[in-house]
Amino acid sequence: MVQGVGFRPFVYGLATRLGLSGFVLNDVAGVLIEVEGAEVDVATLRATLESDTPPLAAVESVREERIPNQGAGSFEIRASSDIGHRRAAVSPDVATCDECLAEVFTPGERRHRYAFTNCTNCGPRFSITRDVPYDRPNTTMASFEMCADCHREYTDPADRRFHAQPIACPACGPSVSLLDGEGSPIEGDAIAGAARLLASGDIVAIKGLGGYHLACDATDERAVAELRVRKGREEKPFALMAPDVETAADLVEMTPEERQLLVSARRPIVLARRGTGGLVASSVAPNNRYLGIMLPYTPLHHLLMAEIGAPIVLTSGNASDEPIAYRDEDALVRLSGLADAFLVHDRPIHVRCDDSIVRIGSGFAFPVRRSRGYAPEPLAVATPFDRAVLAAGPELKHTFCLGVEDRAIVSHHIGDLANFEAMTAFTEGVEHFTKVFDASPEIVAHDLHPDYLATKWAKGQRGVELVGVQHHHAHIAACLADNGRAERVIGLALDGTGFGEDGAIWGCEVFACDFRGYERLAHLSYVPMPGAAMAIREPWRMAAVYLDAALGETASELPLAFVEATRGRWGPILQMAARGINSPATSSAGRLFDAVAALCGLRERVSYEGQAAAELEQIADHSVADGYPCTVAQGVIDGVELIAGVVDDLVSGSPPPAVAARFHNGLANALVVASEQAREATGLTCVALSGGAWQNVMLLDLVSSGLSSADFEVLAHRRVPPNDGGISLGQAVIASARCAGG
Ligand code: ZN
Ligand code: ZN
Ligand code: FE
Repeated sequence: MVQGVGFRPFVYGLATRLGLSGFVLNDVAGVLIEVEGAEVDVATLRATLESDTPPLAAVESVREERIPNQGAGSFEIRASSDIGHRRAAVSPDVATCDECLAEVFTPGERRHRYAFTNCTNCGPRFSITRDVPYDRPNTTMASFEMCADCHREYTDPADRRFHAQPIACPACGPSVSLLDGEGSPIEGDAIAGAARLLASGDIVAIKGLGGYHLACDATDERAVAELRVRKGREEKPFALMAPDVETAADLVEMTPEERQLLVSARRPIVLARRGTGGLVASSVAPNNRYLGIMLPYTPLHHLLMAEIGAPIVLTSGNASDEPIAYRDEDALVRLSGLADAFLVHDRPIHVRCDDSIVRIGSGFAFPVRRSRGYAPEPLAVATPFDRAVLAAGPELKHTFCLGVEDRAIVSHHIGDLANFEAMTAFTEGVEHFTKVFDASPEIVAHDLHPDYLATKWAKGQRGVELVGVQHHHAHIAACLADNGRAERVIGLALDGTGFGEDGAIWGCEVFACDFRGYERLAHLSYVPMPGAAMAIREPWRMAAVYLDAALGETASELPLAFVEATRGRWGPILQMAARGINSPATSSAGRLFDAVAALCGLRERVSYEGQAAAELEQIADHSVADGYPCTVAQGVIDGVELIAGVVDDLVSGSPPPAVAARFHNGLANALVVASEQAREATGLTCVALSGGAWQNVMLLDLVSSGLSSADFEVLAHRRVPPNDGGISLGQAVIASARCAGG
């Protein structure tokens, strides 16, 4: 990562200090430096290139070559060359640096209150880049002509903005404006105006770095409730932006690691435990002990937040389930019924990029959504790609992945493919990535599910080798690649839904696997899912099925609130299941969590994916250490036995938080036992944890520590999400391994 991060000025400064002559230029492979001078000085420069780089630069490797003396008289920065192999990475967008921030808030500075202030250490990158090399004409800043002052800074090697491609100032750069709900301009200072509207309870659409957000005052119950109604989003938590880290610390209890993530240049949304200060409206995150919180990451956000001085809801600008809006005309149309006003600007966004979400579990940060600030940073992998691979990704939480040489480039978050907007973002994204990373994929990997849109897309590609990859195999491979590993391991793949090779829906699988193949050693006992997708939306169905499996007819006599409330609806469901009508068998961990949540009285229906499981985790009483029994034998983890434990405990009057804890403990113990049996059978001692269920930090902590005490090495996700957002990475490394030598 050497372009757009102040690397050439760094080399220039270094070379001139050492009295060396020659040149430095950006080319499509990275940076090319030619120096001549005293041997010792050249050696110093060579050593410093890897040891003392600018904060945002990352040097993968330095190759050197001796050439005849060119007789250069001085050292200069030359124009970019676009010949050669495109290896140079497009870097992620970077939050405003402290120096730029100080300028923005200093009266009299040229950029005082200027919302597009940036320098070589900060500002937009990925979201404005149309092509490589990363130079102004290849960005959405191409249409803004630099003024004399900006040009002077841009061409002064001693300036912080030397060759800062998005350089701008109030005289020559983009500007903000405030529009009313109909798109007509509102007079006065746009940012102050937007702040006033927010304070009065309005919903304002704000054009940010990677797309539009919808914002409202997070302390205003009425405004937040109104935003939920307009967005069609019933309960899924909203993210917050706090004006500064002190305000954030009032809202959530932050560990030092969480604080560090919050203030980092990547500026993700950090999921942290809610504090006791009741400053935020309860409908921001109903029934949730966590809040997703972030800090301002552009000057526009900083200026706005300074005016408001209180947390705001900042959620993606879309109706529920649609991708975030990012094109101006489109945003005004799509958000017209949702926003009372628009805070917009005229710097185009080339690539839509959602906010990233990060959580801490088993002592490490892991992404729940990897997008702005992270994508498209390449991930080094242990086994190089002999031929370029494109992994088409899953259906939900979609990303795709390009495998080139020793790097995997996982895309930004695309969203759920089952809508036209997301599908377009996917196909345009593939085109963009293959161009800027100069890759012509010869291998295309896809999920085995025939109905996934990404699978259909992959099968429509001509002249490539197609490789179908089982969903949970891809999860475990993603975890291995995430950790820079490639050997055979035990894999615990736990999630909601994945197409199994026996036609069942898998989701709690114990594998022995490497990139080439997998062996299914054990799985959660099968139960039917009456109504298929309906059983995902209505956890009460899974609870009824599990009760029936555990107790048969006597289940309807249980003195439980859940039974009394739902038994009248059981008949048709159980008949459907018994006759095998639209009731696929499943070993899904997600459905087991759903059933337990329903039995505990948490909810009969969910309004977003994973809601019941997330709530079950949240209510669990961490002081309860024992767990329900769960036999693991002949390759089957007995989920029905866990349910029997839940039922007995509830009937005897145990409170749901204790039941939730004993369920987590029981399942965790069973997974450790299953791993021990797998070790006995295979001799493998390393366990990889992947799948959306590992976003559950309680389960992650329990299983990690249980496995460690049983002398296993444990691999969990660090760089890509454990959920389906990481699937494309696993597909890519598996497809490459399968095709190797072929
Ligand atoms: Zn800066
Ligand atoms: Zn200017
Ligand atoms: Fe999955």
